[in-house]
Amino acid sequence: MAERLSIGIDIGGTRVKAGVVDLDGHVLERVSRDTPTTSPAAVLDAIGDIVAKLRQNHHVTTLGIGAAGFVDATQSTVLFSPHLAWRHEPLRDAVQRRTRLSVLVDNDANAAAWAEWRFGAAQNEEAMICLTLGTGIGGSLVIDGRPHRGRFGIAGEFGHMIVVPGGRACECGNHGCLEQYASGNALIRDARAAVERGEDYGKRLLERVDGDLEQVNGLVVCGLAREGDEDAIRSLDEVGSWLGIGIANLAAAFDPGLFVVGGGVSDADGLLLEPAREAFRRTLTGRGFRPEALIVRAHLGNDAGMIGAADMARTMRRRSRRNRRRRPRTEGGALGRLSGRRA
Ligand SMILES: [Zn+2]
Repeated sequence: MAERLSIGIDIGGTRVKAGVVDLDGHVLERVSRDTPTTSPAAVLDAIGDIVAKLRQNHHVTTLGIGAAGFVDATQSTVLFSPHLAWRHEPLRDAVQRRTRLSVLVDNDANAAAWAEWRFGAAQNEEAMICLTLGTGIGGSLVIDGRPHRGRFGIAGEFGHMIVVPGGRACECGNHGCLEQYASGNALIRDARAAVERGEDYGKRLLERVDGDLEQVNGLVVCGLAREGDEDAIRSLDEVGSWLGIGIANLAAAFDPGLFVVGGGVSDADGLLLEPAREAFRRTLTGRGFRPEALIVRAHLGNDAGMIGAADMARTMRRRSRRNRRRRPRTEGGALGRLSGRRA
């Protein structure tokens, strides 16, 4: 009864989205605002305000935060966020002190994958990989009902697998990373190049955005493609093919039953996923002699991060309470064991 409702907050580079989420993954009330990018204190203030507002009408005990960034394996500290001022930010404890709620912090991709596994496209799947195509590629692997975080919490950075040695420069400092070929950014790069070369495709794109090149994004390309624009379809086809190759690599390594593809670019649906499926089948190791994973579109859209963060916080609290009841109190708990392992 007491743990029925949970708040989820999805902190992205531009927007903070929050909501009260029930046991079935439904959002009962939502709030959103621009992300304060000035300082960690400003983000903390925003979180405090949002939580206070949502608690006016709902009784909640847990709060999950999905953040765009690297979160450590204890789900308490944001190690680094490319868009925000967080560097080794002890976010969980700060929010817990402020709100008196039980708080969990995770990477936004893990939160989105969790939501798809619990309530969306991947229910009851014992091994699934979720790929969120936006500016880059967010990735997460859920195995046996747990997100696989890796030893340091950084697992799932599939967008930075190198697929073209010496290829396009990536913001991470390497060259040829998958996300330079199979993300929204790849579509934008292609579109802007067409504009700069003065191609007809470029002109059609510009018409869509009243001549403002900055507004040309993946959604504009998807819109044109859905109307049958051959160049936009070709561009999506190329991005989809690279995605399929990336997915074949992931299948070779992890052998999941299902790949869930989300993010703005997944709006293109079959125009992106069909070429991905074809490239996947062409590239998959052992093809013809093994069962093949399905590649499907995510179900929960933009709400996945918020819903997943809320539900994860609730579920992990329940699990840790259960474990505490079962385990005799010795040897300093999980943190003690973690630090002991490295000593
Ligand atoms: Zn990279």
